[in-house]
Amino acid sequence: MVNKLYVVTPRGFCAGVEMAIKALTWMLKIYDEPVYCYHEIVHNDWIVEKFKKKNVIFIEDTDELPKDSIVMLSAHGTAPDIEKEFKNISLTSVNSVCPLVTKVHHEAKKFSESGKQIIYVGHKNHDEAIGALGVSPEHMHLVESVDDIKNINFQDKEVALLAQTTLAMSEWEPILNKVKEDFDNLDLPRKSDLCYATTNRQKALINISSNVDIVLVVGSSTSSNTKALVTTIKNLGKEAYRIETLNDLEDINLESKDVAITAGASAPEHIVNEISNFLKPENFEYYIDTDEDEYFPLPKELRANISSLSRLLVTMFPSNKIEAKNSISKDKSWSATEALASL
Ligand code: SF4
Repeated sequence: MVNKLYVVTPRGFCAGVEMAIKALTWMLKIYDEPVYCYHEIVHNDWIVEKFKKKNVIFIEDTDELPKDSIVMLSAHGTAPDIEKEFKNISLTSVNSVCPLVTKVHHEAKKFSESGKQIIYVGHKNHDEAIGALGVSPEHMHLVESVDDIKNINFQDKEVALLAQTTLAMSEWEPILNKVKEDFDNLDLPRKSDLCYATTNRQKALINISSNVDIVLVVGSSTSSNTKALVTTIKNLGKEAYRIETLNDLEDINLESKDVAITAGASAPEHIVNEISNFLKPENFEYYIDTDEDEYFPLPKELRANISSLSRLLVTMFPSNKIEAKNSISKDKSWSATEALASL
């Protein structure tokens, strides 16, 4: 039996994931099926399966989208050329990119238009990195490690440094220091590209780490920020395990251990609850490191369509007036967990 279990806050859904899940739920409610989604809506297998069962078809290429269909572009961000292609093929295209990924796209556009070469720190083949590198492929150079910087050969040019939002701080900081050392004319974004959700979840784990023997991180293998949480703890010399379901606990010895549990930004809370209930610890504590209250509104294309639909409903069914009128204004108090439960 586990000695003590700390359930760490913040954990789980970030504002970008909340927005994307609610956006796709709305699309299922207001458009004819099937609804297509470019890339996994968020990197979580349980959520992707849930939407697949409701007739969402996930695609990896514009070729897979039938003409005049409905498509959503995922939270990880889409290269501008690809977004344009989707707009041309589809009847309706809704971009549910997280605003914090859009920020990085804007930075890439600004720096490339001013003639700078951009070092982009990210994970090769990750959807977010693919989308960001597509903003200005001729100016952007992907690096994954300090070693990769040795292969960069543009000392005379002006250089900017950008990053994937979900890196481990321990991945980002050595690269930042090395680039600062190597390039005198370095431009950086005013605010770090590592997003609030990524850094808050990592800082919370670092702060609780000295109290525990083992950290459990709920999330899928495709989730960059989940893997960053595991890396963060392993770098401190502690045991950390990524788990997706109760079955993953089988090989982990938790007997008499003090354990912290957290979840990546795309992992649903019910899995954390299932695991916490299963562990039946002798002692239990909610460890609250930071409260988050960020909220990202639904994509503008969707807001416009929901508002038109609401107006139509009000005209057709006056008795629905209050519900229809309030559907968008209520969005802030409607959680992604409730949206998933409504499917
Ligand atoms: S992890 Fe950060 S960048 Fe990614 S969706 Fe969440 S808030 Fe946005």
